Amino acid sequence: MKPGKIVCIGWNYRSHVTELESELPEVPAVFLKPSSCMVGDGDDIVIPEGVTNVQHEVELALVIGVPGRCIPESEALSHVSHVAVFNDVSARDMQSRARAEGNPWDLSKGIDTFGPMSVPVPVGEVPPLDSLHLTLTVNGEVRQDGNTRDMIFGIPWIISYISGYMTLEEGDVIITGTPEGVSEIRRGDTVCASIDGIGSVTNRVV
Ligand code: MG
Repeated sequence: MKPGKIVCIGWNYRSHVTELESELPEVPAVFLKPSSCMVGDGDDIVIPEGVTNVQHEVELALVIGVPGRCIPESEALSHVSHVAVFNDVSARDMQSRARAEGNPWDLSKGIDTFGPMSVPVPVGEVPPLDSLHLTLTVNGEVRQDGNTRDMIFGIPWIISYISGYMTLEEGDVIITGTPEGVSEIRRGDTVCASIDGIGSVTNRVV
């Protein structure tokens, strides 16, 4: 089942904010990816003709099990039923152009196949969400190596913040930001995003 919406958090790891030369945020950037961008383990990431500087972003994905609006931080985790590994594939040149022009960056993040996600695992079966080790490899070489403990905005805060504005519905996915190390992926590469204790999603770039 595809989620109604994928809510994405930008600028949530200090190190990634620094590498993209942005200011540390008072609140995170929040944007949506369409569910039509989602693919699974083993599917191809397809770069459209003319799209340049496509980059990977390994992220922890939260799947909402219990709908809610204006969820207090103290109850936030009880609304999460599953977690997964997500690769927030981004057409960086297109995104940078949109940012510079003051336009939304939806297209650069919403391209078909730019949302690989692993099979969701029940949250009760995984280690604590605030100290998960994330890695991303390209052709076996480690590009991202981070930990959810380095998030600027923690998971309960994120759920509470988003739900203060938009109702979170059953099946919705929240992706929680990426640590440093984003880099370009090219046709022919094999990209593997993984989180210890949760799983991995591997995709070839074509
Ligand atoms: Mg991202």
